[in-house]
Formats: sequence, structure tokens, C-alpha cells
Amino acid sequence: MDTFNVYALIALANAIGSFAIGLFVFLQNRKNRAHQTFFLLTLSVTIWSVAYYGWQMSNFPQEAYFWCRYLMAGAIFIPVTYLHFIFSFLGENHKYRRQIFLSYLIFFGFLIFDFTPYFINRIEPALGFKYWPKPGPVFNIFLFVWLSYAFYGAYLLAKAYRRHKGAKKVQIGYLLAGILLGYIGGSTNYFLWYNIPVAPIANAFVILQLLAIALAILRHHLLNIKIITTELLVGLINFVLFINIFSYETSAQLITNIAIFLLTVLFSVQLIKSVLKEVESREKSQKLAKKLRQANRKLKKLDKTKSEFVSIASHQLRTPLTAIKGYAAMLIDDSKNPEEKQALRQIYFSNERLIKLVNDLLNLSRIERGKMQFHFVETQLSDIISSVISELKMLVRKKGLKLTYHKVDLPILKIDPTKIKEVLVNIIDNAIKYTPKGKITVKTFVDEDSVIVAISDTGIGMSKDDVKAIYQKFQRGRAVSQVYPNGTGIGLYIANKIIQAHNGRLWAESDGLGRGSTFYIKLPLSS
Ligand code: ADP
Repeated sequence: MDTFNVYALIALANAIGSFAIGLFVFLQNRKNRAHQTFFLLTLSVTIWSVAYYGWQMSNFPQEAYFWCRYLMAGAIFIPVTYLHFIFSFLGENHKYRRQIFLSYLIFFGFLIFDFTPYFINRIEPALGFKYWPKPGPVFNIFLFVWLSYAFYGAYLLAKAYRRHKGAKKVQIGYLLAGILLGYIGGSTNYFLWYNIPVAPIANAFVILQLLAIALAILRHHLLNIKIITTELLVGLINFVLFINIFSYETSAQLITNIAIFLLTVLFSVQLIKSVLKEVESREKSQKLAKKLRQANRKLKKLDKTKSEFVSIASHQLRTPLTAIKGYAAMLIDDSKNPEEKQALRQIYFSNERLIKLVNDLLNLSRIERGKMQFHFVETQLSDIISSVISELKMLVRKKGLKLTYHKVDLPILKIDPTKIKEVLVNIIDNAIKYTPKGKITVKTFVDEDSVIVAISDTGIGMSKDDVKAIYQKFQRGRAVSQVYPNGTGIGLYIANKIIQAHNGRLWAESDGLGRGSTFYIKLPLSS
């Protein structure tokens, strides 16, 4: 090549690029109308570009004339195939069948004129170009129709852009950007026809337009600004480097140019792959997070329903259980037969457990629904302790344990007596449950600003891990199942919540498994 004609090279790149893009998109989905019509559009651009190259490389006016006619044959079909593509893409082909047919007819009409002097009148030198076509009368009409189609296509897309949402909207946005790029690029060719001294500087935009459209069709689920800009930029760099290949003077330069181009292509492919991977994995994790949020919402709803159900069921259970308790106590007192007395006691204890379980469940559901209410009144704590101990006396005796409590008067505390009683029942009952033999001691202390109740036992004790974990919902110690398999692990959870609501503290200490435990309840003097 003796002189370096940048327009010829851009045309060549456009030809190769548009054909490759069109074919690629077509092969991705041969049956899809949008893919098919896009291929038609790229074929028109390819014809235009190949002829453009031939024209730029022409050495005789006749030769240039021939190529210009051939070029216009491609250009003529760009608007109609573009419109056909837009209809297909928007899924509106069926509505506009007649319009599409008519459009093809009109442009075929122009094609016939293309081979008469009414279309391209003559070839003249213009603005540094050896040969430039000049318009005949039909060409003026063609140009008007060409522009109208460009505007009409853009109008249809803009309308659809406003109508759609989400990914489709972004897709249409890219098509719109593509149409502007392509038509601005292509239209820079028409100035010289009318002696307006503007060179066809934006021809390279045509390939970018096709690239933008191809991306919009193929990657609709991955329409991401980061990917698109990377791809467009990389495309542009490769395009420039491809053209640069031909600006050589020595064969060494040619080889260097080709090597640089090939290396850049390799690098570009890697770059795009990694960006794609990144975006894909981000999209995946976003989807996953969304699913998790939905599942979480469902679970919360279910949890609420469960709490409500538990609350209703427990309320219903409480009344008959209280009745059983009363009658069992009465029957125990009346019974003279020791065997019968023993059986009745068993009923009484089992019923007591059930009452405790129902109360625990009720409290749990109240806590979870945020419905736990407190009524703080001035109370003598030692009286509550005494009453709890006398209620549990029978249990202690039954297990052959010893329970000691040195009652001393304590400062009056402002507490919820019913709730604190539940806490004490829970903790002393636990001490009884988890102490196979030995004794339980309840002591009270007055600290500077608080009262402390300590409940010690000589029972199974706890490991260090258990001491920390037992306040969690449904959490039970590791060694308990042999001693008392029927526990639920909610008693201490509730107790802890109640003590926290009193601004107090509940904690346990143990020297280890088999070495007993001490539970402490600390309540502030003024709360
Ligand atoms: P439950 O007794 O129904 O299992 P709690 O919440 O009342 O539920 O107690 C949780 C766990 O704390 C028990 O399963 C047990 O492992 C441990 N625990 C409570 N009190 C004692 C105690 N006095 N001695 C040893 N372990 C205890």
C-alpha cells in the first residue's frame, strides 16, 4: 500500500467487524426475529463498508462510480433493516407488518434508481478526496426518507424506553445510544455530496453502534455499565490498533504493529472475561442476598404465628391445669390410703411440671412478641422466697434432699413479685432437678446498692462452656439428659430476661461437672 488512507481502513474494519458481529448474534439464536433482523442490518452495513473500501482505493473515476453505486445499495437498506430490527426487538412485528413490507418496497424502489444517474449524478473531487459522488434528484428524496426513518426509529425507541422498566429499559437505552452513534457516524458522509466541507470523520461510530446493539441483545441480563464501558473502550483501542497495522513503512514496522495488535487482543479478551466474572459473581451474591432476605421475612412471619399459637394454646391449658392442681391437693389431704396418697402425689407433681411448662411457654411467646408486661410494686423479697420454698417443699422431700433457707428481712424492693417468683421457682426447681443427692442452700445478702440471692446445690454442676451458654433459648447443658431428660432449656432464658428488665443480673458459678452450682440473682435497691 503506497499511501495510508484512514477512511479505507475504517471501512475495512467496519466491514469485517459488522459481518462478524452480525453473524455471531445470528448464530446465537437463529430462530429469534430480533437476531435475524439484526443480521440483515449488519449485512447492509457490510455491503456499505466493503464498497466504501473499494471506492477509497479506486484509481479511476469509473471504478469509483461503480463502488459508490454498490455502496449506496448497502446504505439504502440500513434504515429499513434498522426499523425492522426495532419492531422485532420490541416484539411488535405483527402490528407493523404492512409498514415493514411497504418500507422494503420503497427502498427497493430507491435501489432501482441507484443504477441510474438520477441517484448518483456524477463523481467529482472534493475536500482532498479524489472522487466524491454528487446527488441526482432522487437522491435528495432518498436522503429525506433516510433521515425520517432515522428519526422515526429513535422516536419509537424513546417511546418504548419510557414505557418499560428494569433490564428492558436499559437495553432500549443502549439501542437508542446505538442509533444516535450510527446515524451521526453515517450522516457525516452526506455533507460532501452537497459541497459542505465536512469530512466523514465519524465513520468509526458505525461499528460502535453495532457493538452496542449486539451487547444489548446478547447480554440483556448482564447489562451493566461497567461491562459495557469496558467492552466499548477495549473495542475502540483494538480498532485503532488494527488500523495502525497499515501505517507501516518497513516490514519490521508491520510485524511490530501486528504483534502489538495481537497482544492487545489477547489482553482485551482476558480483561473482558475478568470483568464479566466479577459482575456475574456480584449479581449472583446479590440474588442470594435477596433470597435470604425473603426467607428471613417468611421465617419471621412464621415465628410470629408460632408465638401467637403458643400463647393461645397455653392460655387454654392453664385453666384445666389449675383445676387439677386444686382437686389433687384436696384429694391428697383427704386420702387415708398411703398407696392412693402416693399416686395422687404423682399426679400433683406431674401437673405442677405441666403448669410450669405452660407458664414458660407463655412467657416465651410474650417475650418474643414484645408483650411481656411488668407491674413493679414495693415488695419484701424474703417473703417471696419463703413462699416459693414452701411450694417446692414436697418435691425436695420426695427426692430426699435437704433445703435450707435462713430468712432475714431485706430492704423493700420495687419489683414485679409475680415475675420474680417465677424466676425463683425456675432456679430452685432446677437446683432440685439437677441435684441427685445432697442439699440446696438459699442465702440472701445486701450489697451496697443491691440485694443478692444465692441458690447453691451439691448437684451435677456445669462445665465452663455450659455456665456461659445456658441463658440462651433452648440451651441445655451437655450432661443433663441422663439426670433430667425432659427439660426444655427455656426457663433460664426467661429468668434472665425478667432479671434484665429489673436492671439486675443473673449468673451462675460452678467448680465443674459433678461439683455443684450456685446461681446468683442480683436486684438493685432502687430501680
Ligand atoms: P431446663 O432445665 O428445662 O433444661 P433451663 O433453662 O431451666 O432449662 O436450664 C438450662 C440448663 O442449665 C439446664 O438444661 C442445665 O444444663 C443447666 N442448669 C440449670 N440449673 C442447673 C443446676 N442447678 N445445676 C446444673 N445445671 C443446671
